[in-house]
Amino acid sequence: MPAPPNKTDLFVVGGGPAGLAAAIAARQRGFEVVVADPARPPIDKACGEGLMPESINALRDLGVTFEREQSFNFRGVRFVEGRTSVEADFPGASGIGVRRTYLHRLLVDRASQVGVSLLWGTRVTGLYRDGVLVDGSAFRCGWVVGADGQKSRVRAWAGLDRARHESTRYGFRRHYQMPPWTDHVEVHWGIDCQVYVTPVGPQEVSVALLCRDARVRLDGALSQFPELNRRLAGAPFSSSERGAVTASRRLHNVVRDRTILVGDASGSVDAITGEGLCLSFRQAVALADALSSGDLDSYQTEHRRLAQRPIFMSRMLLSLDRFPKLRRRVLRTLAAQPAVFAQLLAMHAGGSMGLRASAISNRPVLALPATTQPSPSDAL
Ligand SMILES: Cc1cc2nc3c(=O)[nH]c(=O)nc-3n(C[C@H](O)[C@H](O)[C@H](O)COP(=O)(O)OP(=O)(O)OC[C@H]3O[C@@H](n4cnc5c(N)ncnc54)[C@H](O)[C@@H]3O)c2cc1C
Repeated sequence: MPAPPNKTDLFVVGGGPAGLAAAIAARQRGFEVVVADPARPPIDKACGEGLMPESINALRDLGVTFEREQSFNFRGVRFVEGRTSVEADFPGASGIGVRRTYLHRLLVDRASQVGVSLLWGTRVTGLYRDGVLVDGSAFRCGWVVGADGQKSRVRAWAGLDRARHESTRYGFRRHYQMPPWTDHVEVHWGIDCQVYVTPVGPQEVSVALLCRDARVRLDGALSQFPELNRRLAGAPFSSSERGAVTASRRLHNVVRDRTILVGDASGSVDAITGEGLCLSFRQAVALADALSSGDLDSYQTEHRRLAQRPIFMSRMLLSLDRFPKLRRRVLRTLAAQPAVFAQLLAMHAGGSMGLRASAISNRPVLALPATTQPSPSDAL
């Protein structure tokens, strides 16, 4: 067999969700694309595994759809603290809970189908003037896409590390084999952590912990939530506990010369937003459009625009994490006025402001005048 060519239009460093989405989008626009990753598929990662409604649209554009038996449509989000609880539905759409390994398999299949060259078990070890070093050997390319995650080496090699760093927290996730009791993502607020539950299939739920203290683990945290603990008691684990760092980081630039960053490598928002994957997929499409039009500055601009709303949400939710008194007051107010929660969720999901909400207390839905609707620019 002839050796594979060692040149391409686009070389994507990292075959996680962002790298594969960027590769598919670029390939769909006619570019030759190679992806390299030292891991082998399906790649797992600690993740809450909830996809916001907009991610589903972005994935559909990339040709990726989900089997019902291996995913779970959720209607919205429920916040719970002690006896206070408020929930809202996404306006006119649903999110999807899906295991990372299944999502990865779908993205890999789609990338192969559209003709992306996939180099698994292959690490990129540096950049040089005309391309990348793959396990030490030169590989020429027109552009390098750094999709190598939170601790991106490509970002450092390209001199793109300058950033505003807002927070670092630690996440742990485990799966339970049991029918979901809820069709909402549940966020349980504790003293110094959140545990959130995402149904990921007809017989499986994903439980993730987010905390500032790296020493806390799921079992320890769950003791703060007796009701949730009771529900999970006795259900067999369908995965072992896996951890990862989650950071809120905003880069000054995501493009330098022919090196471009996507996904967590390009900056990130805290995992409590459930936005990381959605952002990655939307960035992937924006990048492919910019490459097609030959205008990488437009990617930088679009990247900034896409990040605004998630950054606003991340700051707001991290404030609730930091200030317990404020959080309790806010949750009680939202439970009393669930339409406000619905508006926040609609804004978070990027949808129009269709209002549908119900607090557990079943209070009547309130309509807010447009002038009181919160806006991302309020916080920036
Ligand atoms: C606890 C937790 C919960 C989360 N919950 C959610 C959620 O519910 N919903 C949501 O949308 N997002 C969530 N996120 C965020 C989401 O997981 C990330 O935004 C997403 O994984 C980013 O994908 P990525 O491809 O950029 O990075 P990664 O998934 O980290 O992939 C990076 C890839 O690059 C590869 N790589 C690294 N170095 C090299 C190299 N030198 N050469 C080649 N390849 C390399 C790695 O092997 C890896 O496969 C959560 C995150 C955490 C930590």
